[in-house]
Amino acid sequence: MISSRAKAPRHGGALLVVDGAGGRVHRKATFALYPTRAQEEKLHRLLRTLAEVYNAGLAERREAWRLRRVTVTLFDQYGQIKDLKGVRDDALAFGIQPVRTTLKRLDEAYAAFFQRIKAGQRPGFPRFRSHRRHNTAYWDEPISWKVRETDGRPVLYVQGVGDVPLSKHAGKQLARLQRRGGVAGTLTVTRRCAGTGHVWRAAVGFKNVETDALPATGRMVGVDRGVTVTAATSDGALSTYPAEARALRHRADRLGETLAGKKRGSRAWRKTIRQICRTRRRAANLVDNWARETAADITATADVIVLEDLQLKNMTKSAKGTVDEPGRNVAAKSGLNREMQAAALGKLATRIRVKAEEAGRRCWLVDPRNTSRTCPTCGHCAKANRPSQAVFRCQCCGHTANADVNAAVNIAAAGAQAEAAWRAAGSPQVPGSTPRMRRRKQQPAAA
Ligand SMILES: [Zn+2]
Repeated sequence: MISSRAKAPRHGGALLVVDGAGGRVHRKATFALYPTRAQEEKLHRLLRTLAEVYNAGLAERREAWRLRRVTVTLFDQYGQIKDLKGVRDDALAFGIQPVRTTLKRLDEAYAAFFQRIKAGQRPGFPRFRSHRRHNTAYWDEPISWKVRETDGRPVLYVQGVGDVPLSKHAGKQLARLQRRGGVAGTLTVTRRCAGTGHVWRAAVGFKNVETDALPATGRMVGVDRGVTVTAATSDGALSTYPAEARALRHRADRLGETLAGKKRGSRAWRKTIRQICRTRRRAANLVDNWARETAADITATADVIVLEDLQLKNMTKSAKGTVDEPGRNVAAKSGLNREMQAAALGKLATRIRVKAEEAGRRCWLVDPRNTSRTCPTCGHCAKANRPSQAVFRCQCCGHTANADVNAAVNIAAAGAQAEAAWRAAGSPQVPGSTPRMRRRKQQPAAA
């Protein structure tokens, strides 16, 4: 089981976020769709319809409150779906699922709004949406869509759209999850502008997927996630996210600066926007691939993986001076570097947790305080133990090491303490997380 940070049980001062018990997990398959021209028209129509549903639902809630001080609930709005029959049959051509989930997202937007008010913030009220910006359709149940094969080719059947072709790779990815017992439960279809046309992607959520346990190694590894070296392990492996990603992000930022000189909405302006999006996406993909590979390497070597419980939000805000580069525009650059670094660290932690759950490994988050200034040999803890970014030299016993690897060794030691406390407590498992799949509720029959 995998657990959120907030719900993870604490043992020996550390958080157990993945318990290594294996079992059944949730997995998502994400892939491109290759609709025919006619299918693409229908997909556009679906999104336009859902934007209308969203706006109509929002208008109803606003008006009911403004005129009658009445709160319209999600169930009230669900009940009205049947009224569309005969009036807006085009909206029902795709089945009621995407309509229901759109109303549900509206309800969630409301809930988030009121929660923020309660927390003393000043949120923006849920807004009407342009159909051009309504780019996602959801199906929370395995109804009115299906992954299947026609003539030996994988397709995604969507009611009202038809059999949308997929790549062979996507077909294999889906088949693999099905072989592992996975049951397809949710679907998301997303539209994105690309060049002069659009790119369509889908994500299918599977539940009940059997884990794919890796052979036990009897080892434990600590991972120090830092600023200069993104990931250092207690085994001495150092890995840094691709420099090309940073170069791409710098380029995207420079392109952003040229926007000011272009007329908003003009052809040149739109072209630049597309270039910025593409460049940023490429950078994000590079970092993502790096995180996946690094996580796979780390998870393969050890049964227990220990990370620091980092507050990445604070890290991006922290005082500059750690990642500054010489040259022009130092402040802006260091801000970007910190931002990218935090994103890479976050992605790595996520990938390690997912991979650990899948491989039947345990994963701990330990207190990051003093991991970089403590001597693992004699226990002496002092700031002076780290004379430079790269070097650790104990002022007491003279122990010398790479500073990042040294921190990783301390992290592993903290993990060992947590493991001992956990075993002493009888090796309890992480309590079952709330299912990410939504269960079908009893609803008044909606046509
Ligand atoms: Zn020492």
